[in-house]
Amino acid sequence: MKMHNFYAGPAVLPQETIDGTIEALREFAGTGMSLAEISHRIKEFESIMAEAQSLFKEILSIPEGYQVLFLGGGASLQFCMVPFNLMRKKAAYLNTGTWASKALKEAKLFGDVVEIRFDPEGKDFATLPADYEIPADADYFHITTNNTIYGTEIRYDMDSPVPLVADMSSDIFSRPVDVSKYALIYGGAQKNLAPAGVTFVIVREDVLGKVTHKIPSMLDYRTHIKEGSMFNTPPVIPIYAAVLTLRWIKANGGVAEMERRNIEKAAILYDEIERNSLFFTPVNKDDRSIMNVYFNVKPEHEALYGDFLKFATAQGMIGLKGHRSVGGYRASLYNALAKESVEELVRVMRDYEKAKLG
Ligand SMILES: *Cc1c(COP(=O)(O)O)cnc(C)c1O
Repeated sequence: MKMHNFYAGPAVLPQETIDGTIEALREFAGTGMSLAEISHRIKEFESIMAEAQSLFKEILSIPEGYQVLFLGGGASLQFCMVPFNLMRKKAAYLNTGTWASKALKEAKLFGDVVEIRFDPEGKDFATLPADYEIPADADYFHITTNNTIYGTEIRYDMDSPVPLVADMSSDIFSRPVDVSKYALIYGGAQKNLAPAGVTFVIVREDVLGKVTHKIPSMLDYRTHIKEGSMFNTPPVIPIYAAVLTLRWIKANGGVAEMERRNIEKAAILYDEIERNSLFFTPVNKDDRSIMNVYFNVKPEHEALYGDFLKFATAQGMIGLKGHRSVGGYRASLYNALAKESVEELVRVMRDYEKAKLG
């Protein structure tokens, strides 16, 4: 049976990425050795690292003055590296969900944090904050462009009076981004790019070096810029896989085409959720993510929650269970997920409706 991979992360990758990585694990670039056992200092790998950087710059049209880094530690390490490198006194955070909350919590270790959220009292992350003012005296403003868990997404590049920092873990390369609006963009690779193990950082160099405290070498972006992401041993396997995915994106029309496909896929699923009398989504219409679609059975059909999950899983729909913190279902529609998989999910939802309601 064909499996349709809706996991939120690690997640579906292009077949070319999987096959090419397997090949390189057998033998890397004609070296007679596996990618898993070569030194990262050999010229064949140095050229992979250079290609990773240049494909990032090309596909995202990154302007002059920015550096692209490949680091360890996941997006979660960036939650502390960002304030450590950028915060003198005060930062502002847009709290749009679980990951944004985690980033904010780390920032509080380094100074004053202004929190902006839609619902200051409750826990409602189904709507994005609007009409807020970014404090002009903050050292930076941090946003999480895609809320992987609740399924909201900031799908435009905002103007900010202070340096704008974005966690784009789960929507990088899903649409064209005006990088010039951002001082720093980071993300774990395991949503739209590669297997887990590498974190990308796109940073405008002029925002660095403004804090007065000392920064440990490993946590200082300038160390990694100076050493070309080879200060210590980089995660060579996911970096190689990322290059294969970037080549795939480029060969498939770049981020503009990725966005067209993603909008189309998301529309197919959201339309069905609205049409189908068993399901609904609480996510505010204007704020819906095209990467992670959150939905649930309607309250009056609550008893069917587990039954639908079983029904769908039995037909190869994998990874639909929502995050443990919010329940419900979540279908992740990353770049590499084919439109056919979304169409299959819609068919399964229709079959289930017919089976239950006739
Ligand atoms: C998955 C995710 C993270 C966590 O990434 P790690 O690499 O596991 O630390 C952070 N932010 C967002 C938006 C995510 O989707």
